[in-house]
Amino acid sequence: MARHITHWIGGKPWTGAAQRQGEVFDPALGTVTGHVDFASEADVDTAVAAARAAWRSWRTSTLSRRARVLFDFRTALLRRREELAAIITSEHGKVLSDADGEIARGLEVVEFACGIPALLKGGFSESVSTQIDVTSIRQSVGVCAMITPFNFPAMVPLWFAPLAIACGNAAVLKPSEKDPSAALLLAECWAEAGLPDGVFTVVHGDAVAVNRLLTHPDIRAVSFVGSTPVARHVYETGTRNGKRVQALGGAKNHMVVLPDADLEAAADAAVSAGFGSAGERCMAVSVVVAVDPVGDDLVARITERMARLRTGDGRRGCDMGPLVTAAHRDKVTAYIDAGVQAGAKLVVDGRGTSVDGSRDGFWLGPTLFDNVPPEASIYTDEIFGPVLSVVRAPTFDQALDLVNASPYGNGTAVFTSDGSLARRYQSEVEVGMVGINVPIPVPAAAYSFGGWKSSLFGDSHAYGPDGVHFFTRSKVVTSKWPRTTAPHAQLDLNFPGNR
Ligand code: NAD
Repeated sequence: MARHITHWIGGKPWTGAAQRQGEVFDPALGTVTGHVDFASEADVDTAVAAARAAWRSWRTSTLSRRARVLFDFRTALLRRREELAAIITSEHGKVLSDADGEIARGLEVVEFACGIPALLKGGFSESVSTQIDVTSIRQSVGVCAMITPFNFPAMVPLWFAPLAIACGNAAVLKPSEKDPSAALLLAECWAEAGLPDGVFTVVHGDAVAVNRLLTHPDIRAVSFVGSTPVARHVYETGTRNGKRVQALGGAKNHMVVLPDADLEAAADAAVSAGFGSAGERCMAVSVVVAVDPVGDDLVARITERMARLRTGDGRRGCDMGPLVTAAHRDKVTAYIDAGVQAGAKLVVDGRGTSVDGSRDGFWLGPTLFDNVPPEASIYTDEIFGPVLSVVRAPTFDQALDLVNASPYGNGTAVFTSDGSLARRYQSEVEVGMVGINVPIPVPAAAYSFGGWKSSLFGDSHAYGPDGVHFFTRSKVVTSKWPRTTAPHAQLDLNFPGNR
């Protein structure tokens, strides 16, 4: 029986009747397991009104109270960790250990947010002028919208909501309609932690809900993660409507392997980062740039490892699960067809993969192309599937130029044992997150996550110090407390100077 999945408004499940719904699948079985309500504009307005009312008192809550709620939220999440991982696997398809991995990285941001009393410390300057002191403080922004993608249904909401709430805001989450249930478990954890009703809200839906959030006068900030065309739309529409916006987009991540690299480690990294989560990660390695003469050796090692990968139901101890929907599987398959047409060498073909006992799952096996021409669509486009392209580059400089010519700049990695080349790479590459002998350089929670160029619109990265900055407004107070015995001030129409 398919479940009914609905919004979370005012601290409880919504009881209205939706005009539209979407289907939610179990990608390993290929069956419909749920129907999710799609919010109308009026439903979004109801949710935002409840969130705004909650924000008006939450913004005055003490920092110690907020920290306690955050700690209790962490405890609730830890207690329900296995349940959450099972929900993610059942709607996204990634294997259980990988679902748990995304929860772990989300928890790190929760732990960072637990330090909110230290993170919101302001500044103070005594006597900037005679009897005049200056204080800088950071205050909440208001109701903040979070619009998130299908590929990390727990981690990406956790990049934003804990910090937004710790900073005194109300959060309205619009998760992906493809795997909406993880967001509701997060809502239950917030309620268990004692967060006042309405401070965390979930509205489900599609572009209708998103576009209402982008134009709603009471939404003050928008955090978006998703594909580049939608990120651009969100950034342009949100900023045109007076909101601060951080919109993280798509990616095409290159891993450069230099001739002096440890090829065993590089091959392990290429396969792990290329096919983990079936390549449905914004930090997945999708291109390996093999610098001469390592190409043949590296491709042989990658191929040998790929033969050992088990594709199947993520609940049954496999390495790689299905793709999220049949439509997405078909789109990725069409890219493989186009790669063959473009003259790339198909080394491992994942098309036609089937899994025993699960014939209707959205399967596509790991696929490897070698000698990929840079003009082929498998090289230029974000595929977001288990397709790894190897491009050959004659020199380090040509490899670097290739990476820098990409319109995307999310993540990249260089594998080498030469410290000076690694240092040049980190300095000259036009990418926001760089790994040196590390294939998926997702920054730890005390730093911030974000790419360059078409991988991010706006100037704030996610979580870490940028997150605190994004979810607060700065106020500077200049105060004068003259001694009561001081002579009365004189009229002075000049611009105030500091003396
Ligand atoms: P998507 O852009 O299709 O959807 C993202 C969100 O936007 C969803 O909530 C969806 O409902 C909404 N949306 C979709 N189309 C819309 C439209 N026309 N108007 C308004 N809202 C719309 O992305 P996805 O397929 O869910 O996720 C995969 C993409 O996300 C990939 O491109 C991936 O690289 C990217 N991603 C980026 C990062 C990052 O940090 N840069 C992280 C994770 C995923």
